[in-house]
Amino acid sequence: MSLIVQKFGGSSVADADKIRNVARIITEQYRKGHSMVVVLSAQGDTTDDLIEKAQEINPRGSKREMDMLLSTGEQISIALCSMAIEAMGYQVISLTGWQAGMRTDSGYGAARIKNINTERIRAELDKNRIVIVAGFQGLNKYDDITTLGRGGSDTPAVALAAALHADLCQIYTDVDGVYTADPRFVTGARKLSEITYDEMLELASLGAQVLHNRSVEMAKRYNVNLEVLSSFTNQPGTKVKEVVKNMEKSHVSGVAKDKDIARLALVGLAHEPGIAFKIFSLLARNKVNVDIILQSIGREGSKDISFTVKKADMEQAQKILEENRDIINFQSIEVTDKIAKVSIVGAGMINNPGVAATMFEALFDAGININMISTSEIKVSVLVDENDADRAVQVIHDKFFSLYGAG
Ligand code: ADP
Ligand code: ASP
Ligand code: MG
Repeated sequence: MSLIVQKFGGSSVADADKIRNVARIITEQYRKGHSMVVVLSAQGDTTDDLIEKAQEINPRGSKREMDMLLSTGEQISIALCSMAIEAMGYQVISLTGWQAGMRTDSGYGAARIKNINTERIRAELDKNRIVIVAGFQGLNKYDDITTLGRGGSDTPAVALAAALHADLCQIYTDVDGVYTADPRFVTGARKLSEITYDEMLELASLGAQVLHNRSVEMAKRYNVNLEVLSSFTNQPGTKVKEVVKNMEKSHVSGVAKDKDIARLALVGLAHEPGIAFKIFSLLARNKVNVDIILQSIGREGSKDISFTVKKADMEQAQKILEENRDIINFQSIEVTDKIAKVSIVGAGMINNPGVAATMFEALFDAGININMISTSEIKVSVLVDENDADRAVQVIHDKFFSLYGAG
């Protein structure tokens, strides 16, 4: 007998029929004798609808009240799903994040899980009940409700799997696994039978929303046996693990796109020590996260530095820099959010120097201009015009996956 944690995303619980379908998937495992802990997201577009409601009332509502509001979406799902399971004649109980012992830090809107007191869940499992837990939420040290950031229901599922030493954590969504690129937008995207935690973490951090990056981080840390699969088909999914048996033939595992990005360029900085330190320590003190940084060669005593941030941080970053113009001493600042980051990820690229060049060739052939480049051992990212992003993903994907025939 195993302990299985399952998580169902918003599209899997979007209406009554889908909730009944989820109830069938859960009870099928329960009938085999497994202990079942299930994490649910809010139904369909509920979270977006709640955000819209808040905008109508007060576009600058406090983060605390936003979390109070947004956490209600998941509560609807767990109650409805439990009722569906009750109707099938099984023992079940729904628990909010706080009833399930989920404690977080106090960062409203993007809280991090600090610990889980699993006493209540264990007591319910001992009573032979199926336990349905609300995703995306917890309680901070003030006993206030927090939410974990958009797409944040994956993380409590993995966290519960780790805390309960579950045998398996299954993330059910609307695609039947992790693909070489978003299968909804990229023709020819292929399902991967398995992927390493490291590659999945990069893909998730670089825009592949199929798993929340924090959930992958946690799965790696606690070696959680993780699987991504569809609640709509009976297909085998993708296993996410430390080491994969058959490294795919391609050096690249996937292509990802992130449109939630903005670029700031400081032009005409003095070419002297300490400038980068001043800029980035100032931003860090104001909690602005910086991603790609590019500095030009200093010529004639002057240099430029450009960098990227999340779209939501763009205005604040610009304001901070302008307010400190006398310290940083730049001539002008250029700001745009009409850009996107397109990345390739693959553990196999470390020992294959041609991979980045192949990516650039695909973009050159398609006449797509690169604004910035950033590399690490297992990824290459480029910044392109927002309007070129979808085409860029497609041509890069075509290049690698018809070239090496992986899949
Ligand atoms: P859920 O509501 O179940 O959490 P999400 O919308 O958060 O689902 O994530 C699933 C979506 O992730 C898919 O519908 C797909 O469009 C998108 N996606 C992006 N990149 C990938 C990828 N590489 N593989 C699979 N799905 C991806
Ligand atoms: N309901 C939340 C969202 O839409 C969390 C999740 O679905 O993972 O972002
Ligand atoms: Mg999701």
